[in-house]
Amino acid sequence: MSGAAGPSGDVAIVGGGLAGITTALALQETGVRATIYEARPRLGGATHSFSRGGLTVDNGQHIFLKCCAAYRGLLARLGALDRVRVQDRFDVRVLTPDGPGGRLRRAGAPGPLHLLPALAGYRLLSPADRLRAVRASLALDRLDPDDPALDGRTMGGWLAGRGQRRQARDALWDLFVTAALNIRLDDAALGPAAMVCQIALLRRPDAADIGVPAIPLGDLHGTLAAARIERAGGRIELGAKVTAIDAGPKLVVNGSPVAADAVVVAVPHRAASSLVPAEASPGRASWDGLGSSPIVNIHVVYDRPVLDEPFVAAIGSPVQWVFDRTRVSGLTGGGQYLAVSVSAADRWIDTPTAELRAVYLAALERLFPAARRARVTDFFVTRERHATFRQSPGSGALRPASATRLPWLFLAGAWTDTGWPDTMEGAVRSGLTAARLVRRHLREKTTDEVSGR
Ligand SMILES: Cc1cc2nc3c(=O)[nH]c(=O)nc-3n(C[C@H](O)[C@H](O)[C@H](O)COP(=O)(O)OP(=O)(O)OC[C@H]3O[C@@H](n4cnc5c(N)ncnc54)[C@H](O)[C@@H]3O)c2cc1C
Repeated sequence: MSGAAGPSGDVAIVGGGLAGITTALALQETGVRATIYEARPRLGGATHSFSRGGLTVDNGQHIFLKCCAAYRGLLARLGALDRVRVQDRFDVRVLTPDGPGGRLRRAGAPGPLHLLPALAGYRLLSPADRLRAVRASLALDRLDPDDPALDGRTMGGWLAGRGQRRQARDALWDLFVTAALNIRLDDAALGPAAMVCQIALLRRPDAADIGVPAIPLGDLHGTLAAARIERAGGRIELGAKVTAIDAGPKLVVNGSPVAADAVVVAVPHRAASSLVPAEASPGRASWDGLGSSPIVNIHVVYDRPVLDEPFVAAIGSPVQWVFDRTRVSGLTGGGQYLAVSVSAADRWIDTPTAELRAVYLAALERLFPAARRARVTDFFVTRERHATFRQSPGSGALRPASATRLPWLFLAGAWTDTGWPDTMEGAVRSGLTAARLVRRHLREKTTDEVSGR
């Protein structure tokens, strides 16, 4: 796909997460040379894998929804659409420790009516709560997520004002909003929460169908992306930490100067606030106010299968979502590897592993009767303290646009103003925007040079 006619120039991309990878690929497709400088020894950023005792382990379970068009576009660019499994129809079993649980399964009807049969059959809500949930959904659909007033309110407060009681919050809203925004309802900004619910739940019927990687993230976003970028003539410098960006444009990479025609800063906000020159973004110090929200994954290997679905959700339990990782991790021998993904994990991020083991093994036994008879052959925890920024009230106003005051310097990253929460979709969208702006800058620069301006 590379080599199409387009502007020329050398573009330096700082950061090799999904935002940086997307920027590089999108530039190369129009013939622009791109080099990724990535501080770590691998691509993939917040999505990566490591080996442990013969297993390939992801740092944290990642999912996407069918409405994540830009992310699916990246998978297509990587030739990896067959390396993910997407549900034929949104279908989630919701377990409780004390009862039979419930199931949310969409109908074939057009949105938002496709939700009605799903809610009508959802045993975890009373008929009155189901009716109230439908009314709240219709009210939610009328909100404008871009209205700055919504950035100042919480989703929890808004839902309470719409008569959503405890059970509806736990069994419906929290289940999805916390996973999508990595923050609890009462702390979540209304704007992005409304945006996600509208796009995923209230518009196209298939929008919320869930996709799960069928290979480790390190292969999906690391190996495949590196191969694709290099095949298209791009360069990837790993272990290359950028410590300064100056006029020129010029970067300092591992202590040495490197020249470029344009620079895209695709690092997390915590790193960007000190890397981006003050004259590019005078408000850069405010980016630190975006803060962090942690995600913890609890990894349990049993000597036998205890879960008979690819994933389930749970309420009334410290368990939120559980994924069967057996095949992806390469586990053989008849055991089963489960990953429990815990979003908004402030409560657990510093909890010692022994305590997490006691709490989570007991919780899993209550959800999965077969786990009571199974032997745990491995247990470990991955902690991502800065998994996403904190999508709380006021955070929307802190997210910068891609363009800066310096014509050759652009921002990318899931934390920038993408219109999406801090997700893979947001990261990819930011990369596409940055690539478009870089191309425009290079075209204008070439025109100026030709006309001698
Ligand atoms: C455990 C976990 C679970 C998640 N689950 C989901 C999910 O289910 N679905 C979903 O859509 N999203 C999920 N997310 C969020 C998603 O992973 C992120 O939104 C996305 O990957 C961010 O991509 P990015 O390119 O913007 O930033 P990053 O991935 O953070 O990439 C930035 C890169 O910049 C590099 N860097 C930093 N400083 C420098 C420097 N000075 N010089 C050179 N390089 C530098 C870093 O090493 C890093 O590789 C999850 C995140 C985590 C951590």
